[in-house]
Amino acid sequence: MDIDQPASEKKDIRRATQPQLEDFFLANGDKKFRATQVRDWIWNKEAVSFEGMTNLSLATRVLLEQHYQFRQLEVAEAQHSKDGTVKSSFRLFDDNLIEGVLIPAEDRMTACVSSQVGCSLTCTFCATGYMDRKRNLEPGEIYDQVVAIRRQAAEHYNAPLTNIVFMGMGEPLLNYVNVLAAIDRITSEHGLGMASRRITVSTAGIAKMIIKLGDDAVKFNLALSLHAANDVKRNQIMPINESNNLDALAQALKYFYAKTGTRVTYEYIVFNNFNDSDQDARELADFCRHVPCKVNIIEYNPIAEAKEFKNATQDRLARFRDVLEQRGITVSIRRSRGKDIDAACGQLAGKK
Ligand code: SF4
Repeated sequence: MDIDQPASEKKDIRRATQPQLEDFFLANGDKKFRATQVRDWIWNKEAVSFEGMTNLSLATRVLLEQHYQFRQLEVAEAQHSKDGTVKSSFRLFDDNLIEGVLIPAEDRMTACVSSQVGCSLTCTFCATGYMDRKRNLEPGEIYDQVVAIRRQAAEHYNAPLTNIVFMGMGEPLLNYVNVLAAIDRITSEHGLGMASRRITVSTAGIAKMIIKLGDDAVKFNLALSLHAANDVKRNQIMPINESNNLDALAQALKYFYAKTGTRVTYEYIVFNNFNDSDQDARELADFCRHVPCKVNIIEYNPIAEAKEFKNATQDRLARFRDVLEQRGITVSIRRSRGKDIDAACGQLAGKK
C-alpha cells in the first residue's frame, strides 16, 4: 500500500499501469482499448478530470470516477525574474508546495524540477537543505511539473521546452524509482517524447545509486554536485560525503561510465575563501582524471540561513577556471539565473 494513500482512498489514475487499466475495463464489462484512450488523456492530452475525457462514454467516465482519483498539481504562484526566469510554486494534492523553474536562454528552454518535498541531505549552503524532507514526489507529480513549465515556455516565449534538469528541491537518487519512472514517461512516445540526452539528473553523491544508474544503463546525463574535491572540505558543506566520500564516488562514477559511456558533469559552486584557491582547483583537476567529464562552475547565491558563504570574486572565478583549463579540463562558468526571485541554484525553499 502507498504510504500517502490510505486504503479507503481511490487509487490515483496516474499510478495505474496499462495492463492494470486494461484488466479494470475488462472486469467491468468495458473494452480493453479504453485503457489506451485513458492513457492518452492522462499523459498526452493534459486532461485535468475524467469529465474532460470527451471520447469516453458517460458510463465509462462515471466508472472511472467511482474507482480512481485524478491528482493534479496546480500552479500556486509564478514569479517572473528580470532575466526572464520563471519560478513556480506548485501545490500538490496534499497541500505540500514544491518549486520548479523555467530558465530561458537563446538556444534552449530548460525546466529545473524538484524530486522531493524538501530534502534530507542538509547541504549547508542550500536553502532546501534547511527544510525537512516530507516525502518523495510521485512520477506523475514530477511529470506534471515538466508539463506545467513546458506550458509556460510556450505561453511566455512561444518556444518548446528543450531540456530538463533535476536540480530543484530534493535528492533525485533518493527517490530513484519514481524519478526513473517519470523520465521513462517524459521520454516515451506515449508521454512527451523528449530525448533522454536532454535530461540531466543531478546528485549530491549517493555512490550505490550511481552504480545502480550504471546497472540500469540509463541514457540521460548525470551531474554530480561536487563543490569540493577534498573530503575534509566536502564533509563541512555536504554531510552526505561522510558516508559517500570522494573515493567511493570516484569508484561509482568509473562504474557508471564503463556501463553507459556517458560523460559526467561536475557542478562546482565557488565560495569565497573556502574552495576557490589554486590548490582547490588542482584537487578538482585531479578528481576529473577519474572519468571523462566537464566542470560547470556555478555562481553562489547567498541565502539567509548560511551567511558565512559568499560568492567568490570574479577574479577568483576566472583564475580558478584558468587553473583547470591549463590542466586540460573542459570548464564553463554558469551565471546564476533568477536570483531576484530566489530561483537560482540552492535557493529553492518554498519561500514566498
Ligand atoms: S543541494 Fe540538493 S541534496 Fe543538498 S540539500 Fe540542497 S536539494 Fe538537498
